[in-house]
Amino acid sequence: MNYVIGVMVVALGLSVGSFINMLVFRTAKKYGLIRVGRERKKVNYNFSFCDYCGRNLNWWENVPVASWLFLGGKTSCCHKRLPLSYPVVEVVMALAFLAGYLTGGDNKSVLGLAVDLLILTGLVFSGVFDFKYMILPDFSTLWLIMLAGVKWVALGGQWQNLVAVVGMAGLFLGLYGLTKGKGMGMGDVKLAVFMGLFLGIRASVVALYLAFVTGAVVGVVGIILGKIRAKSIIPFGPFLIGATVVSWWWGQGIWDWVAGNWF
Ligand SMILES: [Zn+2]
Repeated sequence: MNYVIGVMVVALGLSVGSFINMLVFRTAKKYGLIRVGRERKKVNYNFSFCDYCGRNLNWWENVPVASWLFLGGKTSCCHKRLPLSYPVVEVVMALAFLAGYLTGGDNKSVLGLAVDLLILTGLVFSGVFDFKYMILPDFSTLWLIMLAGVKWVALGGQWQNLVAVVGMAGLFLGLYGLTKGKGMGMGDVKLAVFMGLFLGIRASVVALYLAFVTGAVVGVVGIILGKIRAKSIIPFGPFLIGATVVSWWWGQGIWDWVAGNWF
């Protein structure tokens, strides 16, 4: 690992995390899920603004992680609580970027690394948005499918990935039909298309397994702890996305290990 590049990648990850927080908030606002600015003065959306009153922020209120800590997790204007998810997403993004760099980092071309980081950005955005609002925004999934397409072509366009697309889309459409859209949304179906194209057959199988197992475990533990009601719906996107990342980086290893130990 080249430490200078490592530090740069972490700093970039923190900034992109901050960007994702902003994009999540602005997308939610655009979709009419939240409102900003009870005050009469108009909010200037060209600059960062307070989530609650719409006042434009100073630079020192906008530094990833540090500002949230410095401000004690509250806005400096109206003293309302800023979600813990802000610094958490920033740290997660920094770690994800670092991991993205370290997994085969030195062998990657700059362009290859850039595409990987852009894919991570889309994945974390979609995961956070689905976690908060139970929607996987189409523009983000489309972005992911496009980047997966670029990577697929660059890696020689294996036909197996197209089989995985058909299989994943078919499976998720089936689940969508069976649950009448209640267990699985169309957003999940579209994300499955990305997963198939991006991961190929083997890593898709590993990702599916991981997503369903972790989803079930979290659901059962949540119900036991009383955090989730038995009939409530939990977003499946974050599980699919987490499983996609794990399978992307370690899917072949997991596959080989399972094949070596049980077959
Ligand atoms: Zn404010």
